[in-house]
Amino acid sequence: TVGAVAFDREQFAAATSTGGRWFALAGRVGDVPQIGSGFYAAPAGAASATGAGEDIAKVTLSRRAVRHLEDGMSAQKAAETAIDEFGELTGSSAGVIVLDGEGGAGSAFNSDEMQTSVARR
Ligand code: ASP
Repeated sequence: TVGAVAFDREQFAAATSTGGRWFALAGRVGDVPQIGSGFYAAPAGAASATGAGEDIAKVTLSRRAVRHLEDGMSAQKAAETAIDEFGELTGSSAGVIVLDGEGGAGSAFNSDEMQTSVARR
């Protein structure tokens, strides 16, 4: 997966791309194209997810992270809380990157690894 979240001080954007999953059934629609699952952007912030798509979709992971922003959490806290909930609800692996309106960037994952970087202008 390559995921990105951005903020131009007016609007948030989120994007996610994927190579898919090994041995996926033909015609599978994973989490990536589903708004709220693989990505989500709203006035409060943006999120992009990676990992087990069927499980990400079950808990709408990206929407869940942004809801935590709407409830007042920082980007980092929202990412950690969303991944904790995801793990408890599904027992599965995923990661999420999150951006908030205060200039905060956050990320969390319960998989073996996930690489992130932050760019500011
Ligand atoms: N979430 C993707 C899928 O299930 C896999 C990935 O790229 O992380 O299709």
